[in-house]
Amino acid sequence: MIPFIDLKSQYGLIEDKVKSRINAILEHGKYIMGPEVAELENNLNKFIDCKHSIGCGSGTDALMLAMLALDIKHGDEVIVPNFTFFGTAEVVSLLGAVPVFVDIDPSTYNIDPLKVSEAITPKTKAIMPVSLYGLTADLESLMKISKEKGIAIIEDGAQSFGASYTVNGTRVKSCNIATISTTSFYPAKPLGAYGDAGAVFTNDDDLALKMRQLLNHGQERGYHHIHIGFNGRLDSIQAAVLIEKLDIFAKEIELRNQVASKYREAFNGKIKMQEVPEGHISSWAQFTIEVEDRDSFRESLSKSNVPTAVHYPTQLTDQPVYKEFSNTDTPASKSAAKKVVSLPMHPYLSDEDQRVVIETVLENI
Ligand SMILES: *Cc1c(COP(=O)(O)O)cnc(C)c1O
Repeated sequence: MIPFIDLKSQYGLIEDKVKSRINAILEHGKYIMGPEVAELENNLNKFIDCKHSIGCGSGTDALMLAMLALDIKHGDEVIVPNFTFFGTAEVVSLLGAVPVFVDIDPSTYNIDPLKVSEAITPKTKAIMPVSLYGLTADLESLMKISKEKGIAIIEDGAQSFGASYTVNGTRVKSCNIATISTTSFYPAKPLGAYGDAGAVFTNDDDLALKMRQLLNHGQERGYHHIHIGFNGRLDSIQAAVLIEKLDIFAKEIELRNQVASKYREAFNGKIKMQEVPEGHISSWAQFTIEVEDRDSFRESLSKSNVPTAVHYPTQLTDQPVYKEFSNTDTPASKSAAKKVVSLPMHPYLSDEDQRVVIETVLENI
């Protein structure tokens, strides 16, 4: 089987450095909130040119921190895309707020800003775009809405850390423009740890301080609690792994883009793919195409040793737990959920493997 992702080749490149970093932690013994966490946060700040990067336990913790920092609670409405990973809407519901499911733009798979405008009510407390598959959502349009209406934007950048785009001629990194951005360092994400990890990002000093307190049980100082928070801390070992991986990450984003270019060139005009708007560089968390008969397509590819995955097989309002929202009319989300399929994508995919993927896909569409 061609590897769908390949963490082993990557490990081969950084093995010695990771082992010596982990050894250093075993020696100093500060497993929680050790010096590696602050070092990583500094490096993350530099990487995306952001004022505050704050490590936390996972991408889901990161979303929770953002929601709590913005005081989102029972009865508030939060606008989310209907086509995304379940966790995006889950945190909204977990806090007793109401997710308002909005359709995606069928060409980019990201939330449609026009539909967002239509969904705003006096109860809207935040808009939560997702930068799906690594392509930054249309944050320029959404930030305009945010300024006009005074509504916060939380970018769920779980898949898009490392992506960038140009605004007025300057390059801006995903995770550095919304009120608060979040990401996940789950092992299979573009920048992955060796376990669960995540981060929140903001340029607002007050929100940053509050999120630092929230992730440690709302403590202002030892045993002095000023918020209801939770344990959302990032541990030192995961931070150490991420420091080493961040060192080679810019190069990896380049390599992912080379693979994507090959695919796009080969499939151009033959297969529907995610549109990458002018100026955008994706982090290619997934390379996703659309096919009409997905089950048989996947079966044929699998027989030729080309693995595939589906992100995601249902829109959120078709999930059993969201049956109260099952009348939501979001045709682009519904159609994408039925047709999307993701192909092998990672920085170390060999030329030969790329050739086999392309050939096999073209033979089976
Ligand atoms: C992976 C992911 C999350 C959750 O991240 P975890 O680190 O697994 O908690 C949230 N939103 C999106 C869009 C994701 O892809």
